[in-house]
Amino acid sequence: MLGNMSSDCIFCKIAAGEIPAKKLYEDDQAVAIADIDPRAPLHVLVIPKQHIASLAEVGASDKEKLLAGHLLGVANQLAREQGLSKGYRVVINIGPDGGQTVDHLHVHLLGGRTMHWPPG
Ligand code: AMP
Ligand code: ZN
Repeated sequence: MLGNMSSDCIFCKIAAGEIPAKKLYEDDQAVAIADIDPRAPLHVLVIPKQHIASLAEVGASDKEKLLAGHLLGVANQLAREQGLSKGYRVVINIGPDGGQTVDHLHVHLLGGRTMHWPPG
């Protein structure tokens, strides 16, 4: 569900500039920040400015689907800019079983080392 800022959501506050973060990219729809607990030499989170709880919420409208695609495009753009020519990983955790800990949709971009499969 698309919504306005959720007042108790940490990623809404980061997107609004109310909580400091290392911003690597920003446009009218999304912001990309350095993860506070990096799991790879490069670990960036691409976050929509609108509050969407998770990818599981996406699909009701073309606008939501376009926004989800935009987040992936931003992740790719950052990967190129960061010189991840040997590859990288893009991850979206969804819900408790998916390992999602912040209930605001975000795309992880991880790179700078060889990734393992399957993830834990
Ligand atoms: P997930 O487990 O997929 O929900 O990912 C949440 C991510 O947000 C984790 O990698 C956290 O390290 C990261 N995170 C949590 N709080 C912050 C913050 N204030 N600034 C940057 N990253 C954060
Ligand atoms: Zn939010």
